[in-house]
Formats: sequence, C-alpha cells, structure tokens
Amino acid sequence: MTDSRVRLERLERILDVSRDLNSTVALAPLLHKIVEMAGELTDSEAASILLLDKRTGELRFRAASGDPNGQLKDVPVPVEDSIAGAVLLSDEPMIISDVRTDPRHYAGVARRVGRETHSLLAVPLRIKERQIGVVEAINKLRGDAFDQEDIETLNALAAQAAVAIENARLVEALRKANERLGELDRLKSEFIAIASHELRTPLSLILLYAGLLRERMEGSDDPQLDAVLRAAAQLRHIIETMLNLRHLETGEMELTPEQVDLCTEINEACHDHKPVAESENVTIRQSLPEERVIIEADREKLRLVLDNLISNAIKFADARGEVHVSLVPDSDVVEVRVRDNGIGIPEEELERVFDRFYQVEDHMKRRYGGMGLGLSIVRGLVDLHGGHVWAESVPEGGSLFVVKLPTTLPASLLAR
Ligand code: ADP
Repeated sequence: MTDSRVRLERLERILDVSRDLNSTVALAPLLHKIVEMAGELTDSEAASILLLDKRTGELRFRAASGDPNGQLKDVPVPVEDSIAGAVLLSDEPMIISDVRTDPRHYAGVARRVGRETHSLLAVPLRIKERQIGVVEAINKLRGDAFDQEDIETLNALAAQAAVAIENARLVEALRKANERLGELDRLKSEFIAIASHELRTPLSLILLYAGLLRERMEGSDDPQLDAVLRAAAQLRHIIETMLNLRHLETGEMELTPEQVDLCTEINEACHDHKPVAESENVTIRQSLPEERVIIEADREKLRLVLDNLISNAIKFADARGEVHVSLVPDSDVVEVRVRDNGIGIPEEELERVFDRFYQVEDHMKRRYGGMGLGLSIVRGLVDLHGGHVWAESVPEGGSLFVVKLPTTLPASLLAR
C-alpha cells in the first residue's frame, strides 16, 4: 500500500472513532476506547492516558491498554520529572526511541505492569489552550521507531478525544449536581413531613385552649387573645399547606367528588378574602355567568385552588389594586380566570412558578411572605381533577392564572 493510501485509511478510521467517542458519555469506557484506538492507529504494543489532577497538580494514569488488572489506574506521575510531564508543559509531541536512556523515564510504571518500555510517543491532550493530559503510545510494533505520521495520527486522535473527555466530564458533573439536588429535595420533603407532623399536635392544643379561653370571656374583647388565635390559625394554614404537598407527592391525596356549583364557590372564596383585600386597598371583582355552572369536583380541594390563586393575586396586586375573578363555561370544560394588575411574572418564569419552593423574588430581598408552595399545590390539585393550570402575563401589567377543568371527572381518574 502506498504511504498516502495508508494515511487516508488512518484518517478515515479516526473519523469513525471520533463518532464513536462522541457518543460515549461515561468517562471510564471512553478512556478505554481512546487507549485501544491509540494503540491500534499507531501500531503500538500499548497505549495510555494520563490526565492532569487539578487538585494535586500531578498527572495520573486514567486508562492503559495492556494493563488488564488495572495496576496503573490512578498512579501519579510527577509533572516536573517525567516524559509525560515534559510533553504537558511544552505542549509539544515527543518521540523517544529508547526510553531507558532518558533520565526522565519513570521506571515505576514498567515495574507495575511487568513490561519494559522501549520506544514511546506522547502527545498533549488539550481543550482550546488548556492542557488536560497526555496520550502515550508505547513500543512500536513494526518498523523501528515512531515517525512524523504517528505524531499526526495520535494528535488527530487526541484532539477528538479531548473534546469527548470534556463532554464526559461535564455530563458527569451534571449528573452529580442532579444527584445532590435530588438529595436536597428528598431532605426538604422529609423535613416537611416531620415538621408538619410534629407541629400539628401542639398547635391543636394551642387552638383548643385559646378557643376555650375565648368562650370563657363570653364575648368581651381581648386583643392579646385574638392575636394568639390569629397567629395559631396562620400556623395551621402553613402546616396544612405542607401536609397537602406531602400527600400530593406521595400519591395519598384522593378526590371526594360531588356536584359543585362553581359560581357559589367563587362567590364564597371572594367573600372570604374581602377583609384582607380591603386592608391592602385591593378591590375584588367577579364576572360570573347568570346560570349555575355545575361541575363534578372535590369541593374542598377546589376551594384550596381558588384560595391560593386569589390570595396570591391580592398579595401581588398593586397598591389600590384590582383582582378580577371570572368564570367562562364551555360545553364540557370550564375556565376559572384570576387576574390582577400587580407586579406580573417575567415571561421566562411563567412555568417555573409552579415548581415547589420556587419564588420569583430572591428570598434575600423578600418583600412578600410565603413558602413558594401554593402554586405547586394548585397544579397538583388541578392535575388530580384532570385539568390544566397555567400563568400568563397581562400586557397592561399583572398576571393571569387560568384553571381549565372538565365538567365531568374522567373515569380513569376515579379508578385510581
Ligand atoms: P408563595 O406565594 O407562597 O411564594 P406560590 O407557589 O403561591 O408561593 O407562588 C410562587 C411564586 O410565584 C411567588 O413567590 C411569586 O414570585 C409568583 N407569583 C404567584 N402568583 C403571582 C401573582 N399573582 N403575581 C405575581 N407573581 C406571582
């Protein structure tokens, strides 16, 4: 075969290899493939990869062909006093025809794998301008020594390999970060389960005795006792929110369906929120159809959805704000729309506000209270009814939350 033909075949092989390398995202198998290819393409007895350990500043063997027992794995090689180190520092390939005469040769490696190194070719692995390691081919099998063509081949492979290694590292870092997030999420859920459970009993006692005290006072005013009752009711609301979330997460939340008149529910919800709205200078308006709109739903859970959306609308409305609750019935679906003229939600956050614990406002700069759980509960409850809920921006300012519910619960949901 002519030289140029051999060269072409090698390049074609590198192209093939690079496709394969790019589809391997796990680092260990990827490094293994790279050393196998390095050996094959340069016609060498063995090959290895050393990667720079950023923490210690040393090079470490990460994969080596002809090392079936993994004796070289993670063996450190000093950068200052080794051939691989010299290649890394100079950022230039190096051919050494007889390693044994080179004072930089690190004999510890030969001892570990029980194989003498004679000739050696090493090229740097780099991502853009940053050196990340070295690929070495050891002991040329045919011909006397490594040549310029071997350098080109190994360089081409190293360029592809470096990108694949970087990708695999990023994927690995992402997987680890995801794992950590998953663990944090699990701890948060566990904390919620324990806290809500443990707080419930003492709080019931506080509410019970404060209620008894109130009865004993037979109607005479006591602002301090009223403050205790208000604070306890607030705490109960927080605990119920945490319990609801827990039940939704574990699939323990079940529907108790009945025929619900939506106009009545909306009327009552708006009426209940009026005192708070008035204290905040917010007006609540309603647009309800003349005729009754009956749907099959769990009344209590539906009220929870309305309460969350209306209280958010009041909370985030402008000073002298307006909250508008409307009901739009269609043939077999209904839309409940809760709109406010407040601070609004940036376009890119419209979906994320339904995530657990998510709040648009940085919690260090919080102006509004809350735990970031209300909307995730709303979504969970609406899903449970076979409906959809989403948020929209109102062009003239403010937010719109739309809840779309079927008038009849799908049979598949009831059978759950
Ligand atoms: P919380 O209100 O307790 O923080 P939610 O889950 O109910 O939790 O809401 C999550 C976040 O979504 C809020 O912190 C707020 O940033 C944003 N949000 C919800 N409703 C509105 C609204 N009507 N207008 C503007 N932002 C809102």
